[in-house]
Amino acid sequence: MSIDEIKKELASILNAVKTRIEMEKGFGIDTLTLSKPVTECSSRSAKSSTKNKPIEHSTTGKHPGDQTSVTGKGERIQILEALQNEMLVCHKCLLGKTRTHLVFGSGNPEAHLMFVGEAPGRDEDLQGEPFVGRAGQLLTKIIEAIGLKRSDVYIANVLKCRPPGNRNPLPEEIVLCMPYLLKQIEIIQPKVLCALGTFAAQTLLNTKAPVGTLRGRFHDYNGIPMMVTFHPAYLLRNPNDKAKVWEDMKKVRDFLGELSGKDSKR
Ligand code: SF4
Repeated sequence: MSIDEIKKELASILNAVKTRIEMEKGFGIDTLTLSKPVTECSSRSAKSSTKNKPIEHSTTGKHPGDQTSVTGKGERIQILEALQNEMLVCHKCLLGKTRTHLVFGSGNPEAHLMFVGEAPGRDEDLQGEPFVGRAGQLLTKIIEAIGLKRSDVYIANVLKCRPPGNRNPLPEEIVLCMPYLLKQIEIIQPKVLCALGTFAAQTLLNTKAPVGTLRGRFHDYNGIPMMVTFHPAYLLRNPNDKAKVWEDMKKVRDFLGELSGKDSKR
């Protein structure tokens, strides 16, 4: 390797370190950890693996990719649009009467990482997009801190319409709305799910266990590894727990990195 090539390589490494420090600072983390970032390209082409990752609540024996026969991006977009059109006229629960906009979900229909939150808040209800308020801005930082862009992932909520006053979702609302989320997961076929907060975690895992005991490890959702972590809105109220979320998200980042590494050896 020539001197110029070494200089170039060093500059590239320093730049990567600088970017990571900036991301971690932006996310509110003081310590620096280094590992291979997940690139957009590698996260797209990853193959599934659960090696060295404890997966809990496995009940179906299914594996990622088993869920549906949907394959192409165009086909996924079409099916998602059809589902959105169906939901736009949904009044199965009373939230259909009080919403300003239905918040369907957004992101890459071929995302390998899909986030599931609780329900739209005021900003989301006004804009018809998930996670666009302060909590959404923090989620964007979290996504960028693991080396991805918002447009790389898919984001949806358990409920598609805002509960008035941002009250907690009611059990009957969750029961009525859940089929839509399940269909979204089936269409997108993420390699990894990330449940944000109590309602997403408890609903997808069918448990009453508190999020504090569920977070920090991968569970199994119909064969898809699912990380549980705190909701960004909770983090805004409890910034001291950002470090815990950062620990959780590093596991997601490393998992995706491991998948892309395995894929590159094929
Ligand atoms: S919250 Fe879900 S079930 Fe209730 S009206 Fe909205 S889309 Fe329909």
